Amino acid sequence: MAESVPAPLRLVESFLNSVDVESGADDLVDVPTFRRWLADHGHPAPARDTDLDLARRLRTELRAEAATHHGVDTDRDRTELDRIAAGIPLAATFGPDGARPAPAGTGVVGTLGEILAAVTLASHDGTWRRLKICPADDCRWVYYDTSRNSSRRWCSMRVCGNRNKTRTYRQRATTA
Ligand SMILES: [Zn+2]
Repeated sequence: MAESVPAPLRLVESFLNSVDVESGADDLVDVPTFRRWLADHGHPAPARDTDLDLARRLRTELRAEAATHHGVDTDRDRTELDRIAAGIPLAATFGPDGARPAPAGTGVVGTLGEILAAVTLASHDGTWRRLKICPADDCRWVYYDTSRNSSRRWCSMRVCGNRNKTRTYRQRATTA
């Protein structure tokens, strides 16, 4: 699944999926687990409680944002997300194609800045809207929608889509 995610969004996808609703596993459950997640993703940092708190708040808000990519709740209140983003410094960095946002902080704030910079760029090239969250309550997995018209609803038709279809079929069968 992760292979389909464009390279600039891989860290974002991984960050958003650092909680697995189905199994209850959470890489941001405590500081040691979070430090392991950072190291595993090539961003080792001596994370503290405040870093963990910031990361958790950002993840919650970005997951809520990914949920709007199905076309629902697009006018949701983004005050909290803006407040969190304001505490994560970004800079403009120049290259042959012009300028792009880049993290200006260090440690965990730098890593979260890398995530925000990637989301900013992806918001402009249209790929951010393709990062969606599975609407199944017991799944909520973040996936990248590669369908031509960007209409994929479930994380995986093989698992969630079929599971949901079976459920609908059973409900219909019961009502009939
Ligand atoms: Zn799913």
